[in-house]
Amino acid sequence: MRIDETPGTAARNEKRLTGIGVSPGIGIGPAYVGERGDLPVSESRIAESGIDAERARFAEAVAVSTKQLRKLKTRATALPGSAADEIGYLLDAHLAMLANSRLVRGVNQRVARQRINAERAIQLEIEELGKSFAAMSDPYLAARIDDIRVVGSRLIRNLLKRPYVAYSGLTGGAIILAGEITPGDTALMDPRRIGGFATEFGGPDSHTAIMARALGLPAVLAVPGLLERARADAEVLIDGLAGTVIIDPSPETVAEYRERREGLTRQTRLLGRLRRLPAVTRDGIEIRLEANLELPVELEHALANGAMGLGLVRTEFLYMNREELPSEDEQYEFFASLVRGMAGRPVTLRTLDAGGDKLPEALAGYATDDSANPALGLRGIRLSLKERRLLDSQFAAMLRAANDGPVRILLPLISTIDELRRAREAMEQVARRLRRRGVPIPDTLPPLGAMIEVPGAALAADALAAEADFFAIGTNDLIQYTLAIDRTDEQVAHLYDPLHPAVLRLIQFAVEAASRRRIPIGICGEIAGDPRYSALLLGLGLRELSMSPRHIPRVKQRIRGLDMVAATRRARAIMDQADSGRIAALLDDFNATIQPA
Ligand code: PEP
Ligand code: MG
Repeated sequence: MRIDETPGTAARNEKRLTGIGVSPGIGIGPAYVGERGDLPVSESRIAESGIDAERARFAEAVAVSTKQLRKLKTRATALPGSAADEIGYLLDAHLAMLANSRLVRGVNQRVARQRINAERAIQLEIEELGKSFAAMSDPYLAARIDDIRVVGSRLIRNLLKRPYVAYSGLTGGAIILAGEITPGDTALMDPRRIGGFATEFGGPDSHTAIMARALGLPAVLAVPGLLERARADAEVLIDGLAGTVIIDPSPETVAEYRERREGLTRQTRLLGRLRRLPAVTRDGIEIRLEANLELPVELEHALANGAMGLGLVRTEFLYMNREELPSEDEQYEFFASLVRGMAGRPVTLRTLDAGGDKLPEALAGYATDDSANPALGLRGIRLSLKERRLLDSQFAAMLRAANDGPVRILLPLISTIDELRRAREAMEQVARRLRRRGVPIPDTLPPLGAMIEVPGAALAADALAAEADFFAIGTNDLIQYTLAIDRTDEQVAHLYDPLHPAVLRLIQFAVEAASRRRIPIGICGEIAGDPRYSALLLGLGLRELSMSPRHIPRVKQRIRGLDMVAATRRARAIMDQADSGRIAALLDDFNATIQPA
């Protein structure tokens, strides 16, 4: 991560920042600074007896904000040259405003005297401070009110426990710059009206990143100093591949990136020609390339890119941005539309994988995201088995949709055989109930599979394979849990390594267990859609890859260029290595010999 001022006269005012490019594409447009967005704040009255509680709520928001700013400051120290100092000073100033400052004291006094909620007290205090700052003759000091507003917005967001704002109303190709964007916010973005987004926080395999790729929205996460540099009236350019954010780009830079964007469009068009060709290696082994579906719009992309099925339908979006649960009928309608849309090609529906970094609003009463380790908590199948109402209505909707075409049902975050057995029992119970009611479902129930995404499940894959009808390896979580790297935490993103020998051994173990038991196994983590890993995955014995539909052409191109015998030999050599640097070198050397076909 770095920040520098571009030399040269025309580009003198450009501010270049770097983060993690998570969704390729180039976006150029007016900045929308979400961090300073006006979250709706209403005024509510506090009873005398509630004053202490309201002050405690405010103190908690101050503590959370302080923690966030300290985290940003630690990251800013890694920036080169003067940028580290410059951003460091700004963050220090913001931290000082959270110490026993006039702002904090003022809010506490207003809560007690005016008996109003803390959010409104912050707004009023800032208005008041704004007046006294405006009267200052020193323009430097007068400008500090902007900093106070930024800090105030952070406090309000933390009070409302809404680190996000809704972006659905934006137009004009705006580029959103924000502290953090949730998967739910991203789901509401319309790529025809939004040019992309950049944030201060987030990791490359977080669901926000996956959602951005699903929408084809250029996105850069984990950009330190972003909000300190952002201005609502600026023009912004983002490159979601390189991870670059340029504020106030010069006309030359804009022209250069427009050209690059056209190059990318040409490339995509060329790859589109592969649509009707099979994903077959040079020595004739056919690979199934399927699509992951995160949002309904992707059905169209899956079909356009020649997916042989839907290898993973994430159902979480059905629960996002709403307060009530989706009904069984609503779920059925959606699943059935996918099954019909895929016209005979199999659709793998995954039961709800809520929890961790995905806690849709409708589930707020069922799980919490404030446990110390949400990723290790009530997530995925654990939540579904605890809240049978959720699971039963999902199963019912899925079984009904299975009557319209081939469906497989996939269970997330399986770690024990018992979970698999209990889920199967639940599915059979739901099936019996539907049959009793005369609801049409198939005579043979759909195959029930387990995600292999917990190291313990991979290590016990031989036992699980005796109970599961198929496996789907979820490397996003498998990497997170194997290496103890939070997939959403930008501070450890550089350690998130798909080529770590432990991860590869777990994949190999699961593939071998599935093949001994003769059950199908596929992979649906993000690495399935990255051609860099294709030779290795095939060499390890995988024959089904499921990925964001937009990635199918580039993976197909890679597969058509490679020789399975050579890939298998190279995978064997890789599996003898203990060091991921050496593994990466062996893989990249092999990839360099593959001719695009
Ligand atoms: C995975 O963990 O690799 C996976 C595909 O599931 P998700 O990304 O939805 O957790
Ligand atoms: Mg997962």
